[in-house]
Amino acid sequence: MGYEYHRPSTLDEAVRLAAEIPESSYVAGGTDLFVQMRKGHREPRALISLRGLSELGGIEASARVRIGAGVPLSDVQVHPAVVEMFPALVASIATLGSRQIRNVATVGGNLCNASPAADTAPPLLVYGASVELRDVDGRREVPLEDFLLGPAQTALRAGEILTAILLAPSVGGTCSVFLRKGRVAMDLPIASVAALVVWDGATCIRVKLAAGAVAPVPLRLRRSESMVDGTNLDAEIRGRARETAETEISPITDLRSTKDYRRHLTGVLVERALEHLAGEVGG
Ligand SMILES: Cc1cc2nc3c(=O)[nH]c(=O)nc-3n(C[C@H](O)[C@H](O)[C@H](O)COP(=O)(O)OP(=O)(O)OC[C@H]3O[C@@H](n4cnc5c(N)ncnc54)[C@H](O)[C@@H]3O)c2cc1C
Repeated sequence: MGYEYHRPSTLDEAVRLAAEIPESSYVAGGTDLFVQMRKGHREPRALISLRGLSELGGIEASARVRIGAGVPLSDVQVHPAVVEMFPALVASIATLGSRQIRNVATVGGNLCNASPAADTAPPLLVYGASVELRDVDGRREVPLEDFLLGPAQTALRAGEILTAILLAPSVGGTCSVFLRKGRVAMDLPIASVAALVVWDGATCIRVKLAAGAVAPVPLRLRRSESMVDGTNLDAEIRGRARETAETEISPITDLRSTKDYRRHLTGVLVERALEHLAGEVGG
């Protein structure tokens, strides 16, 4: 397996190289790509490294929070603005791979690899993230929900780079949580759930739920959300959200789990996540 290796130092140079070299592939941390190449699932003619691009680095918090797509997950996990506003994202990174993986793997790579089980996707969905994309023709912004199209499929056009993840700062009264169940350490989840609740006193005025590993893409559980919106999140309502969640996913059986167990587990995780968020305000 032979391939050219390019290490551009600017974003313009990277997108120009991708436009010039057919069958090239970007590589960030390489923790997904090199595994796929070793298995013979991908054979790019050239690799274009994203590691030298300052445009993909840094985390900034102003009117919006901008997480550079090339920031290693271990840096995202401890950034003060992320820790303060996006605890479910921090929790999803804490269980992803190992410390060594998190030191090189990037948040952009986790989304662009487009695994249905990608751990950062459910929290980013409940936080309403958008992704910033750049190519030789310019810049565009796409909601994360429209970016993830299927297993290993995204809205990226040929040669396009995901440059950043964009998030609105959290509002007062917001609580969020991420729960997942895997078989063993360092494995993708069997199922995962992120939940976000905005409280106004004892009333839950906004709920967002998302699940991973139980459909072709990580997805919002909108029918379950509508069960909970405007309620006090009591045990009966949480039970109804659990039952509804089980009906709006399409899990498969694979080496990690059966589809029936995945369905059951998703309901359990939704109920537990909501119970946790009800507990956070002493409800
Ligand atoms: C032992 C092990 C355990 C793991 N455990 C987990 C786990 O528990 N949960 C989980 O979700 N994942 C897990 N992974 C998968 C992987 O580590 C993550 O998905 C990681 O975030 C990928 O990031 P990366 O920078 O290494 O991506 P890369 O491998 O560099 O790239 C992945 C894909 O995305 C493309 N790409 C990367 N960055 C960009 C960009 N900015 N713009 C355009 N395209 C881009 C590449 O071309 C490639 O197709 C594990 C991997 C290993 C090896």
